[in-house]
Amino acid sequence: MIDHSGRVAAVTGSARGIGKSIARTLAASGANVAILDVNGDGAQACARELKEECSVITWAASLDISSKEQVVDVFERLTAEIGAVDILVNNAGITTNVNVITEMPMDAWDREISINLSGAFYCAKQVLPSMAERQWGRIVNISSLAGAIGGFGQCSYAAAKAGLLGLTKTIALEHARNNITANAVLPGLVNTEAAAAVPEKLRERITNTAPIRRMAEPEEIANTVSFLASAEASYINGAPIFVTAGAELFTF
Ligand code: NAD
Repeated sequence: MIDHSGRVAAVTGSARGIGKSIARTLAASGANVAILDVNGDGAQACARELKEECSVITWAASLDISSKEQVVDVFERLTAEIGAVDILVNNAGITTNVNVITEMPMDAWDREISINLSGAFYCAKQVLPSMAERQWGRIVNISSLAGAIGGFGQCSYAAAKAGLLGLTKTIALEHARNNITANAVLPGLVNTEAAAAVPEKLRERITNTAPIRRMAEPEEIANTVSFLASAEASYINGAPIFVTAGAELFTF
């Protein structure tokens, strides 16, 4: 049984989808959770729900992770109000920026890199000094299969998610001796509202690239994250963990 009792976990993009499922799984194992999302009302609602359901301390804030100022302010308040972060899950991301390279507006590229990559760096930078001081920490970055194999029409998404792998490995190298691990989770297609927005035909084609022939459920990603965030995962560091049911394998 994984036990996160006494830990403070911050999960970005946790008002819905995979992030909410991660927050719920961590809270169900005893972690006090901070729900951080650009959708502030959604974050508050999720915090109320998990407090009721899991009897842990929950905390919520409206946060756009691409804003350096907001990240600094929210992590300062969070630390003062529920304690220093032991577990950071960089989950928030946008998946709607689809265009081939020749058609990708430069501003859209910049915006996606700032949310899907820079945001994770800003958040990690806020928690690492205190984790190092306390000689314990877990950072889990939600990358994507696209970060490893690219994605047609997803240049900024694939580049940002590949960038997260480099960030993860660098945190792993710089902080292993502080008992801090950093790992990346690479999901295939996951059954969330974001996936529901993908046109049905395309969703079916992507789903069929997984030998298991179904999407992942958010809980299947959350269970992996919960393990990586646990004390038991102490010797897993800098690892890209594919949660794809084998979609990256040759299949036909
Ligand atoms: P989602 O769109 O359902 O949820 C994303 C959450 O992030 C939302 O609550 C949204 O408000 C929040 N968010 C968006 N921009 C933000 C910002 N600037 N600051 C703070 N919060 C912000 O998406 P999801 O399907 O749950 O995906 C979650 C993560 O998993 C993303 O990083 C995504 O790239 C990754 N992922 C998803 C899939 C999939 O198939 N769903 C596959 C691989 C990777």
